[in-house]
Amino acid sequence: MENSLSSARINRTKLEIVQGDITREDVDAIVNAANSSLLGGGGVDGAIHRAAGPQLLAETRQLGGCQTGDAKISGGYNLKARHVIHTVGPVYRPGDTTAPQLLTSAYRRSLEVALENGIRRIAFPCISTGAYGYPSEEAAAIAVQTVCAFVNQQEQITEVHFVVFSEPIYTTYIHMLQRVAATYGHRPA
Ligand code: ADP
Repeated sequence: MENSLSSARINRTKLEIVQGDITREDVDAIVNAANSSLLGGGGVDGAIHRAAGPQLLAETRQLGGCQTGDAKISGGYNLKARHVIHTVGPVYRPGDTTAPQLLTSAYRRSLEVALENGIRRIAFPCISTGAYGYPSEEAAAIAVQTVCAFVNQQEQITEVHFVVFSEPIYTTYIHMLQRVAATYGHRPA
């Protein structure tokens, strides 16, 4: 599904909502919703390791793990993307006030690592919304707000894809992106 509402522009950056499998994204870096061991897992992490091949695990073994809210970079091996940025979102527990800050940090640190490594085009999955249990709508609001605020402050990143796996959350992201982008002066085409 492609329409004028699935994308927006803020500053130099085109933001796009994409429905599908992040391992197929043809961008400079895809972000992995990893766990702190960086030794692979289920969900999107497992899909990325399967698509990248065993060399990815050989490299991530050397990275010394990753704290929740932080991010580390590796090669992309058999992926179209030249890099994988591994970040660790929070495990959601109702009433835990640190979860929104840690999810914000996971998005922000991934973008900082992208900037440090000359990356221009990047794709994110819906971090923490699978096994880690973060409610999808709340996580979408944090994802879109954090990324929009970040790209408004820099010139390097030209494209950000929010890759969603399921239809209901696709629509949520579209509404969220248009609402947040409007606060930066974007008007739909
Ligand atoms: P977490 O442990 O951070 O919750 P998961 O991998 O369990 O990570 O889920 C994160 C999100 O990634 C979920 O919304 C899930 O539907 C989605 N997902 C799973 N596989 C893929 C994939 N191949 N491409 C894009 N998104 C995916």
